[in-house]
Amino acid sequence: APAPLPEADQRLHDQILTAEIAPRRRAIAKTITLLESTRPDHRARADELLNALLPHTGRSFRLGISGVPGVGKSTFIEALGLHLIAQGHRVAVLAVDPSSTVSGGSILGDKTRMEQLCVQEAAYIRPSPSSGTLGGVAERTREALLVCEAAGYDVVIIETVGVGQSETAVHGMADMFCLLQLPNAGDDLQAIKKGVMELADLVVINKADIDPHAATRARAQITSALRLFGQQGHPSHDTGNATLWHPRVLEISALKGTGVDAFWTTVNEYRQLQTASGHLAARRRAQDEAWMWERIDAGLKARFRAHPAVQAQLGGWGAEVRAGRLAASVAARRLLDLFS
Ligand code: GDP
Repeated sequence: APAPLPEADQRLHDQILTAEIAPRRRAIAKTITLLESTRPDHRARADELLNALLPHTGRSFRLGISGVPGVGKSTFIEALGLHLIAQGHRVAVLAVDPSSTVSGGSILGDKTRMEQLCVQEAAYIRPSPSSGTLGGVAERTREALLVCEAAGYDVVIIETVGVGQSETAVHGMADMFCLLQLPNAGDDLQAIKKGVMELADLVVINKADIDPHAATRARAQITSALRLFGQQGHPSHDTGNATLWHPRVLEISALKGTGVDAFWTTVNEYRQLQTASGHLAARRRAQDEAWMWERIDAGLKARFRAHPAVQAQLGGWGAEVRAGRLAASVAARRLLDLFS
């Protein structure tokens, strides 16, 4: 049996699972703060706590939402969140903000967003972890997702801005990946060809109220582009079995709230199909394993660089490689030999 948690952490654990709203929210926030701490002792406590919570995770639907700044992500998430809460769901919103990892600034994190959703008792909104590598930020978010699941949020929305890598990271932790587009998206076929569209299980054309004709045209263009991807094989749907789900395109107006109902109906259809076929469980298993390896890769690299014997040689051999006196592959092999 695993060692019991220290008293303070056991209390956090219990509050996440059972307590009424106020202590539960505090416990979630404290736990996520622990997860995001750079102190090794905090990290160790967080690991134990996370492990203890693990049996209570996995019961939410994990919805990834991405799109460029200004496309309407917060407007949409707020409308969707309120719609879901009215149906009795509990909604958590997490974010992966790639800008924070570069500049320490934030595209997603500002606090005037989703004002109506923020004040709902059935909603929990957490801004993106604010520093570190993208891999680190994604890891913290993934762990926060597990904490929210343990706390009983049955829909977890993970938001990110449209810049390649962060979308891949969110795709790697979501059951369904939705891409928000503007009504003129279809005019820019380059954007459609970019890898991100291929990750989408659902494309949502927002702001259809501004130009309904443009939105309908974009829908047709994106639908045919997705069909093309489908013939080439879809990375998130190919799990060996027959593909049941074909990515769809919807038109909505987040501002007016039109299409939000249809969006959720489509999400449920997806969820039922993917659950019944086993694709959802397979996707999560694959994500967990990919995640483990990603973290092993990152951890190994960090330990390699910190290894005393490697550090002693890295500068000199690196200079030799740059000067063309030592083959890169030879230097790599020698350094790896020092490490093992
Ligand atoms: P984000 O940067 O993707 O989170 O985008 P926001 O949700 O902040 O929206 C950017 C701007 O677009 C805001 O001024 C919104 O009011 C506006 N907006 C969002 N959705 C719609 C929509 O469906 N129709 C219209 N006309 N405006 C919208």
